[in-house]
Amino acid sequence: MTRPDPKDPSVASQSESVLIDPIASLANDDGFAPVRAPRLSEEIVNQIANLVATGKISLNQRFPSERALQEKWRVSRPVLREAFRVLEAQGIVESRPGGGRFLRSTRVLDAGRPNWSDLRANRDVLMRLWEAREAVESKLAELAAIRATEEDIEKISRPIQLIEELAPEDLEDLDLNGQFHAAIATAARNPILEQIGTDLIRKSGQVGFKHLVGVTNWAALQSFHQPILDAIRARDPAAAVVASKLHFDNLRERVREAD
Ligand SMILES: [Zn+2]
Repeated sequence: MTRPDPKDPSVASQSESVLIDPIASLANDDGFAPVRAPRLSEEIVNQIANLVATGKISLNQRFPSERALQEKWRVSRPVLREAFRVLEAQGIVESRPGGGRFLRSTRVLDAGRPNWSDLRANRDVLMRLWEAREAVESKLAELAAIRATEEDIEKISRPIQLIEELAPEDLEDLDLNGQFHAAIATAARNPILEQIGTDLIRKSGQVGFKHLVGVTNWAALQSFHQPILDAIRARDPAAAVVASKLHFDNLRERVREAD
């Protein structure tokens, strides 16, 4: 095993970009991460990121009213507005005066901004993330094959259908791949594993997988998603595990090729 290099830029960029998170110290191999007082508005941004990742808010959907959100989150109006200001600045939320707020993009949703210019450093983080995702998501797929309801299976198959139907330029602003994985996480019916799974999915998006391997042919990814769905639908947990592991093997291969 190689010792972590404290000057490794991937360690620094990751710890800065993940602000308030149960696994925020993920990329710090020594287990230590800088501590800072979290801001309430960042907590809201991260919650919205999770709502999007789990499909509880979808593209172009209108957010509940300020009053309703204040009650749910138990925060003041300025805190709420600060969170939405961050999302507006990133083009993720559109606010219409008197008309409410709408989700306009599901791309890069987090309090921190990823550093796209440092993809090489991100690659190392991404490889570690995928290692973790392979472990967690093969278990999630196994459980989903046992526990998924018909409705869950419908939610898992929807992103696959959309990828086939939509034009590549429309896919740029959507994270259908993330939604596919998040739907499996939900179908496993284990809230603890689901939380870990969706956090890891979101982090993979943050480190810039799309940019890193320059995915333009989204349909090609489907050849790895379809067997996972088929195994879950066939109620075959062992096949679901194999199909999940194959998917992550392929992803690692893509990053290596992008070297
Ligand atoms: Zn995938």
